[in-house]
This record gives sequence, structure tokens and C-alpha cells, in this order.
Amino acid sequence: MKHCIEPTDLNKGELLELIELAEDMIASPSKYQEVCKGKQLATLFYEPSTRTRLSFTSAMLALGGSVLGFSDAQTSSVSKGETVADTVRVISEYADIIAMRHYKEGAALVASQYGSIPVINAGDGSHSHPTQTLTDLLTIHRELGRLNKLTIGLCGDLKYGRTVHSLIKAMSSFQEIHFVLISSDELQLPKYMLEELEKSEQITVSLASRIEDVIGELDVLYMTRVQRERFANLDDYERCKNDFILDSKLLNLASKDMIVLHPLPRVNEITADIDNDPRAAYFRQAGNGKFIRMALIYTLLQKADSQSLSPNVPRLAPNLIPYTESCPNPVCITASESLQALAIEGERGYRCAYCESKL
Ligand code: ASP
Ligand code: ASP
Repeated sequence: MKHCIEPTDLNKGELLELIELAEDMIASPSKYQEVCKGKQLATLFYEPSTRTRLSFTSAMLALGGSVLGFSDAQTSSVSKGETVADTVRVISEYADIIAMRHYKEGAALVASQYGSIPVINAGDGSHSHPTQTLTDLLTIHRELGRLNKLTIGLCGDLKYGRTVHSLIKAMSSFQEIHFVLISSDELQLPKYMLEELEKSEQITVSLASRIEDVIGELDVLYMTRVQRERFANLDDYERCKNDFILDSKLLNLASKDMIVLHPLPRVNEITADIDNDPRAAYFRQAGNGKFIRMALIYTLLQKADSQSLSPNVPRLAPNLIPYTESCPNPVCITASESLQALAIEGERGYRCAYCESKL
């Protein structure tokens, strides 16, 4: 693992090592307070974010490092039309590691191909959000003591919710996982993911349209926000926004050991009357986000010190295949920047290597 672009960039061993390191950082923070002294993290946030950016910043400061960057594309050279590839080539000269959030899907992959320092994907469009997933895994591990044998309800916006997409991918490293997809047809998981889940040997899946029908069988209920900013048509958003709301009446139907997770920010999908219920783990989850990011930054920097990344050359992983047609997804990074189209081969044909749309 040189970069963290997709949750699947980490194998099971690496995931467990990172969780163990984060737990040690929680137990003995002073041991790590100078381990990144002299190192700089660049936070390149092309899409607004408060908590993810602050949690990266607070993670780097707790390791003794420093932070530079921007939190809004309007104030960077992007507003002058600079490509991601050029931006990371420049930032590679100033910083030691990058955390990038972008509204274009596949932007972090491009950054990892052109920069000469490790890149962490802090969210790319509706595609992936691997550090949220690491946060989720650490939280499940701390709260329930295991990452196998879990029934996880994913509720709300499964179509655009990148945290949901990444969590599903990461769980394929573990055993006896059952996902219950609680959503409307309109906000159901993208088809390619559903098809992959149906084929998976480790993961089983079922669909539900009401929380009350399934909450009693869950170990984890993962609530998500219906994301206004991802809808092309706001009428569709208005129709979907109140579909799934968890309140104390519904929570009474759950087991006493179930935990409620949410990547935050919450809008109205969890009512405030359950915040003090011990099963409401979402604020503890947010706290864990800092420690898993500390573990990830420290690990990637140690690896970068021991194996240099050759600068300014597009690096292609062996599974990426140059492709002649362009990707049909309008929010794919290849739609706005001139990049070689790349494909990955799946069981049902080729998919774009940047955003995973069907080619
Ligand atoms: N986008 C959300 C926010 O701005 C969550 C995040 O930062 O990841 O708070
Ligand atoms: N914070 C999460 C994200 O950035 C979830 C959200 O914004 O609703 O994807």
C-alpha cells in the first residue's frame, strides 16, 4: 500500500494492522506525538468539508507534523483551470503526503498517478471514501469486538452514498457478513455493486423497504444522509429526503447490543432524542476518525521513506487496461481533464478505472 485510494488498496492484514495501531494511539497518544515531526500534510479539498478536513488536520498535528492546503477550489489555481495532475506535481515539491477531496470521481487516482508522494482519497464524488470506512471498521471493532459475523443494515441513500460503497467493498475481506439494504428503489445501490454482492462468497445480501421490518436482526444500523448536492434534479431530492428517519420508537425494536453509525453530518435522518442512547455510536465514531487517520498517515509516510515513488510519471497499476472509448459518466474526472481512458475488467465487461462506471 503506497496510497489509499480505494478501501481495497488495503488487504485484510493491513486493515487489521491499522486498526491495532489506531487502538494503540488511542491508548498511548504521547508515544506518537513527535513521530511525524518535520513532515507536512497537504489537504487539497475541492469540495466543502468540515469534519473530514479537520480530522485530517487534527490527526497530523497530533503526530507532530504540520498542515498546509486549501478548503475551497475557488481559492486555488483550479479556478484558473489547472488540472489535478499539475496541481499534485507542484504540491509534491512542497509536502510529504496529500489528502484530497474532489467532486470528480477518480480525482484521487489521478493524483496518485502523477504526484511523487503518497495520496489519501478523502472522498471522490459519489464513488469512494476509504478513510470513512477505516473509521467505521475501527468503530465496529471497538464497539462490538469483531469484524466477522455481522448483520449490517445500510439505510438511506445507497445510490450516491460513497461511504456505503466503500464500506461494502472493505467488508469483502471479512467472513459471514450479511448486508440488509434498506432503501427506496430510487436510492438503491448502483447496479454494478448489487451484481457483485450477489456473486460474492463472503457476503450475503437482502433488501428491505422499512427499518421496522429488519431492525431487530441487525448488529449495526448504518444511517446515511440523503445528499442534496448529488441530485441533478432537486424535485427528486425533495421526494426522497424524508423516506428513512430513525427515532426512539424504532430504536426500541432493536437489540440492546446493536450500534447505530452515521458518517455525519446528520440532517433529519436520526432524531436527536436517541443521541443519549448507549447504542448511538456516531459521535464516538467521529472521534475514532482522527485516530485511524493518524495511523494511516504515519504508516504511509513510513512506507514512503523506505521506498521512493518516482516523480512525475503516470504510474499505472498492472490491472488497468488502456481503453479507446471515453467514460460516459459526466462526473468522472476523465470528462473534464484530458487523460488516457483506463478500464478494469469485471465479470460483466469493462468498467472505468477512475469511477467504475460501465464502459
Ligand atoms: N461533507 C461533510 C461535512 O462537510 C462531512 C465531511 O466532512 O466529510 O461536514
Ligand atoms: N461525510 C460523508 C461524506 O463525505 C457523508 C455525507 O457527507 O453525508 O460522504
